[in-house]
Amino acid sequence: MEGGCHCKAIRFKTEKDTFWVGACYCIDCRKISGAPYVVWAGYETDTVKILQGKPKLYSSSEQVNRSFCENCGSPFSYQYKNQTGKIFLPVGIFDTADNFKLQKHIWTSQKLPWIHIIDKLPQEDGSYQ
Ligand SMILES: [Zn+2]
Ligand SMILES: [Zn+2]
Repeated sequence: MEGGCHCKAIRFKTEKDTFWVGACYCIDCRKISGAPYVVWAGYETDTVKILQGKPKLYSSSEQVNRSFCENCGSPFSYQYKNQTGKIFLPVGIFDTADNFKLQKHIWTSQKLPWIHIIDKLPQEDGSYQ
């Protein structure tokens, strides 16, 4: 699947399927996206190829690096610093996100009270691990 940021400076493709898809309600994801929650698609890092552009790295906490497009501000990735073999991309940056299958809700302890989860998928108070 292919995708990219809003201004198209960054383009990428994924060569294999996700190992995980989850919605994160944490405050950091809210601040970074401007949205009430973010749905992340997890991939083995070496199956995600950057076709053009260079996402700007941002250390959002002691354990986590995020990246984004320096020109338009679209978020690009989420990565644990001690697990560089895995990378999480927000589903909204894919050209087509129709086929993602949500598996889990995480950080529901920080979920906004007016966001209502209506499916029966597992919920985690904290991180996905
Ligand atoms: Zn951009
Ligand atoms: Zn989060």
